[in-house]
Amino acid sequence: INILAIESSCDETAAAVVRNGREVRSNIISSQIDLHKLYGGVVPEIASRKHIEKINQVIEEALSEAGTTLDEIDAIGVTYGPGLVGALLVGVAEAKAIAWAKDIPLVGVHHIEGHISANYIEHPDLEPPFVCLVASGGHTHLVCVKEYGKYEILGRTRDDAAGEAYDKVARAIGLGYPGGPKIDRIAKEGNPDAIQFPKAKVNDAEYDFSFSGLKSAVLNYINGCKMKGETFDPADLAASFQKAVVEVLVGNSMRAVEKLGMKKFAIAGGVASNSALREAMEEACEKRGMKFYRPSPIYCTDNAAMIGAAAYYEYLAGTRSGWDLNAVPNLKLGER
Ligand code: ATP
Ligand code: MG
Ligand code: FE
Repeated sequence: INILAIESSCDETAAAVVRNGREVRSNIISSQIDLHKLYGGVVPEIASRKHIEKINQVIEEALSEAGTTLDEIDAIGVTYGPGLVGALLVGVAEAKAIAWAKDIPLVGVHHIEGHISANYIEHPDLEPPFVCLVASGGHTHLVCVKEYGKYEILGRTRDDAAGEAYDKVARAIGLGYPGGPKIDRIAKEGNPDAIQFPKAKVNDAEYDFSFSGLKSAVLNYINGCKMKGETFDPADLAASFQKAVVEVLVGNSMRAVEKLGMKKFAIAGGVASNSALREAMEEACEKRGMKFYRPSPIYCTDNAAMIGAAAYYEYLAGTRSGWDLNAVPNLKLGER
């Protein structure tokens, strides 16, 4: 089964051809980062317009790099939520048009299901059940993948997503957008024990996260230094902030896998490309005799190959979307 997958939920226009859910024949990503950087974050109206400009070209490239044509495509997979409504609509409309014209099935995919499924691409042995931590720009979800396409959310963030906290802290120390990769880089030069930041605990829900308190503590620290006329080392600050984030992500994840008696653990989403998080998770899993899975960085941030992987298993399960498929900006995982 060859699936042409389309992703346009945020600021990446992406298309991929994926065979049998795990073999990526092409993976084209046109990023708008340079455009949105000027404004310090994603501007929805600009994102939608850019998607319209790019989408046909990105799909053509995906087909030609795979050495194929639409005639050999068996189904179209497309992200229909969650995300920016105008951005999602571009991908959904395009997917419907192609599926209609070629008379092939259309499969709507949940963006976070895509992030999780990115793990299938490079790990042929990975099958449910497993636990996956999804840490991205808009989500921090601890998910039990019970079967293909069957998810139970064990914990989630109460406020900011992990990636959002990275981006806000980066902005406060003047690193620009998107901040995650930049904090990752400068933290390597810093001392993670230089500053003690609070590790937020959410008392009544065992696996929930909270990052807004940590973010405020970092911002207060920076303002405090400015007011006192003191300087601080951005590398130390980045390393200390990152340590606090990683400890909470690892702590909750390991408590969950231990309690559930899971033998397999995966990470996904943009923050899953963070080098400190990858190292800490790897070590924590090794210590517990668990298998650890993570996608290559290119499959952690937004891409269409992961949507092709998710669409394949939805396709096998019989999921078909109608011509009334619409963008659902706040789509919940496990809902249709
Ligand atoms: P969502 O998937 O929740 O809808 P999104 O699609 O915008 O949100 P992703 O593309 O999955 O998010 O991830 C982008 C986020 O990942 C940004 O917040 C970015 O700062 C963060 N990120 C990317 N690389 C790293 C890194 N190396 N370290 C930490 N954070 C990172
Ligand atoms: Mg993005
Ligand atoms: Fe994403």
